Amino acid sequence: MSDTNNNNNNHHHHNNNNKNFKLAVHFAQLGNDSAIEGDFIDAVKYYSKAIDYCPENHCYFGFYLNRALCLIKMDFFYLALPDTNQAVRLSSKNYKCYYIRSRILRKLKHYELAQNDLKMALNFRPTCKIIREESERIIERNEREFRLFNEKLKTYNLNDKTYYKIKVNFHLIKAQDLPTNIWNYNGIRVENIRFDAPIKLLKEYFSLFGNVEHIKRTYGYHNDKYQNQNQNQSSSSPSIFIYYYNPVTPMFTIAYFQGKIFEELCRLDEQNQQYKSLRLYFAPTDHQIELKYHRPNHPSTTTQECYFWRTTFCHLKERCPKFHLQPCKNIDAQIWMFK
Ligand SMILES: [Zn+2]
Repeated sequence: MSDTNNNNNNHHHHNNNNKNFKLAVHFAQLGNDSAIEGDFIDAVKYYSKAIDYCPENHCYFGFYLNRALCLIKMDFFYLALPDTNQAVRLSSKNYKCYYIRSRILRKLKHYELAQNDLKMALNFRPTCKIIREESERIIERNEREFRLFNEKLKTYNLNDKTYYKIKVNFHLIKAQDLPTNIWNYNGIRVENIRFDAPIKLLKEYFSLFGNVEHIKRTYGYHNDKYQNQNQNQSSSSPSIFIYYYNPVTPMFTIAYFQGKIFEELCRLDEQNQQYKSLRLYFAPTDHQIELKYHRPNHPSTTTQECYFWRTTFCHLKERCPKFHLQPCKNIDAQIWMFK
């Protein structure tokens, strides 16, 4: 889709920028008329034409913002998101761009990102009551979702001890850090743990949200391909596999430990003498044979999440129609995926 847009752009990109800009404005006007009539599909078509005709140096944020508004009207939130991203890029001091994007982010349940956008909007419009109220609404929504999840916990057939542990330590987690576990992995893989960390110590740390069934180390593992792509470093650190009895404990464990540094646990970077932060992934246990050695089939659930974002890398980036949830980035990456 973006390819054809580019072609159109090049095609119309002659020296007559002015003429093209007038055409763009003309189509945008038709778009406005259609939107007022409630004909949002036509409006989207016209705004797309306006965007195609618009010379690059005259690119106008309002075309994107208006198209986003029409897409919102039709509940195509994940299509509207890239348009608002573009609008923010083109007009980074306009409160409207942030406010409208925050509405989409709220719908997509990215509450923290929505909150960031509202903060930006308030910077430019400090007295706006609508933005302030929206901000309060999001905080309340976030808390409600978390309570709902707490309720849902009861349906996961956890043993009493695990349930109790999660309940006691629930407050340590921020809702937006909790990854979804769409394949119900019962284990985790942890990187950047020091070679000589005693198993007993690991067990103490990682049973915060449920009892550990088994811990094992793997030596001599290099994930160069992945590391090069993401952090520009190679890792010869062993991974630790920690197996639990249920798929919920891994979710909370990841939410709590992801990116944290503990001096007695973490590996020291020889070069800059700093501790490396923990990196956690979901992993199958020895009992989960069906998840062990090959890519699981795409989840049968109705998830809208991007498989590639969750495993290795999504080349579509913000143009991807599927959700890229921040706490789920690379979360399902397995060692065998990098061989
Ligand atoms: Zn994607």
